Parts: sequence; structure tokens; C-alpha cells
Amino acid sequence: MSLKLAYMQGDGIGPEIMTATLNVLNALDRMYDLGLVLHEHEIGLKAIGHQGASISREILDACREVDGIIMGPVDTYAYPSVDEGGVNPSAYMRKSLDLFANIRPSRVYPNVPSTAKEMNLVIVRENTEGFYADRNMYFGLGEFMPTEHLALSVRKISREGSIRIAENAFELAMIRRRKVTVVHKANVLKVSDGLFLNCVREVAEQYPDVILEEELVDAMAAHLIRTPERFDVIVTTNMYGDILSDEAAELSGGLGLGGSVNAGEKYIVAQAAHGAAPDIAGQNIANPSALMSSVALLLMWIDKRDNKPVLKEAGIALESALARALSDPLIRTQDLGGSGTTDKFCEAVSNILTR
Ligand code: ATP
Repeated sequence: MSLKLAYMQGDGIGPEIMTATLNVLNALDRMYDLGLVLHEHEIGLKAIGHQGASISREILDACREVDGIIMGPVDTYAYPSVDEGGVNPSAYMRKSLDLFANIRPSRVYPNVPSTAKEMNLVIVRENTEGFYADRNMYFGLGEFMPTEHLALSVRKISREGSIRIAENAFELAMIRRRKVTVVHKANVLKVSDGLFLNCVREVAEQYPDVILEEELVDAMAAHLIRTPERFDVIVTTNMYGDILSDEAAELSGGLGLGGSVNAGEKYIVAQAAHGAAPDIAGQNIANPSALMSSVALLLMWIDKRDNKPVLKEAGIALESALARALSDPLIRTQDLGGSGTTDKFCEAVSNILTR
């Protein structure tokens, strides 16, 4: 058994939450004999300072050679222009490795303060098209200024992109509660969201055991708050998925809980749903749960791809150790009303795992 993973710390709280996550991963390696080999690559602001670019072709090539990738958050607001090396590393990876599915689960954890009383859902977000100007074109950007005072943004929705994300959502629903909610705005964006919706309906016909529900994105923002327990798998386009998944993470307790993976047919990147949170960087108060939970998802996904059931076991063990640690207010971090630190939380999860 061997498990080769590449990792990149990223910006802001990235180094702290990555250290904590790798410690826990090493504990899992000792317990399950995973044959873990880690390769580090420098991205983000440090890489701009050292190499003049936030990410390189060499890193991408190295990432194609491993079983999975763990990526810290990136602070793209602080980057210089693309011409000066400030490429968005997340977008670069998602586009280059065709990571078309962004899977973002959100649930209420026992004894963790949360706005939602009951919730266990997964948002399946299309990841390579939509309004995301830095990845939705083959060449050039989907956003441009024809004149000094006019900015235009082109949104891309393709049949191929919509069908494959819908298939992903229905496959997931088959192993969950067998319900998919498609979120759109086809009453206004009749052509683009209309195409997306029709593709989802078409895929739904192949899954007669799964209930398909349709919601407009504005109504969905309200339903999520009022009745989050109603939802199982939610499938939607890129930007709606980004916004709704932050909302769902907040309902579950906070942004620090939002685990997430970006997956394609061959490659997978575990990356927390939250950003680099530069306001709390370097203080040992960042919540590493989202990245740890992302790694649990990554392990389970690699098992599905490579048929390595021990990884599924390790992923489930990590999820349950995480839930146990989160339930203790002396261990969980401040963002969840606790008094723990990043280090203390990491130590607790490792102890629970190895106990
Ligand atoms: P991006 O657009 O890059 O996703 P964002 O605008 O969503 O970033 P974040 O960096 O995710 O912003 O964080 C918003 C705020 O939430 C932060 O300023 C921080 O206070 C809090 N936050 C985010 N992640 C965490 C975390 N892991 N632990 C504690 N607090 C967090």
C-alpha cells in the first residue's frame, strides 16, 4: 500500500491549518499503514516572492503524478496582476486538471452551536464554467472592458459541463437519501440556466429512484435558512454553488467547518471551502476542521477511484474523530465559541484517533 500526496500550504492561515492537517494525516498513516509519502510545493504569495509566480507548470506536472493533492487557501486579493505572476492557483488547478465537480458537504455536528437545527446536505457545484472569468474560456478571460467605463462578463454554460455535474450529483444521491435539488434562475436566464436545468432533468430520467426538486436560487437562499433539513444533494452552477455553500457552512456553525474537494475523472484536490482569512493568520486560532474534513473526503474519493477500502476506513475514522473533538468547547476554536487553539485541536483529533 502506498499513498502519494502533494500539498501546498497557501496563504494566510494556510500554513497553520496545513500543519495541523498533516499531523492528523500522519497519525492515520501510523494507524492504517497507508504508506504515506508527502511532497511539498510552494504556491501563493511566498512563491511570488521567491519565483515570481504564484504557481508553476512544474508544480502542475508533479501533481499529475500523485494520488491526490491537498491545497491550502489562497489570498488572491493580495496578488499582483496575472502578467506579474499573480495567477489564481485554485483556478489554475481546477482548469488544468479538469476538476469539474466541487463537492461541499455541510452538516450539523452534535453539541456544536449552529444556526441550523438539523442539516445534512451536499452541494455539488459545477467548477469550470459559469461566471468564473479566470477559468471559463479556452483562451483569454470571460470578463473584459470594451471601453474605459463599460465592463462585461460572459457566463458559460455547456451541455457537456451540465450533464457531467448532474450525473455526479445523481450518483451521490443514490448512496445518500435519494433526493436532488437543482438550483437555477431559468425564469430570467432562460437560455443559459434553461440549458443547465434541461440537462439536469434529462439526467434525472436515468435515475427513477431519485426525486428531483427544482428551486430558484433566490428562494433557495431563504429555504436553506428556514428548512435546511429538507435538502440532500444540491446541484447548481459555479457561482450559485459558491454562495450557497458559504451559507450552508455558516448554518452548520461557521466557515471554518466547510470541507470541500475539487474532483474530475482522474484527479482530486482537497481544499477547504473558506479563504485564507488573513485577519487571523499567525495567531494559532484558525479552525483546521474544514481542511481536515476535506482530507477525509479525499481519502474516500481515492478509495472509489483506486479501490483501496482502507482509505475509506481512514476517512470515516477522521470524520468521527473530528466530530468528537468539535463537541468539546475546551478543544474547538474561537470561531465556534470554543477556547481551543489550532494546535490544541490538532492534538485532540490525533489523540482521539490513536486512543
Ligand atoms: P475567499 O473569497 O478567498 O473564499 P472569503 O472572502 O470567503 O475568502 P475567508 O477568508 O474565507 O473570506 O474568511 C472570512 C472570515 O471568516 C475570515 O476573515 C475569518 O474571520 C473567518 N474564517 C474563515 N475561515 C476560518 C477558519 N478556518 N477559522 C476561523 N475563522 C475563519
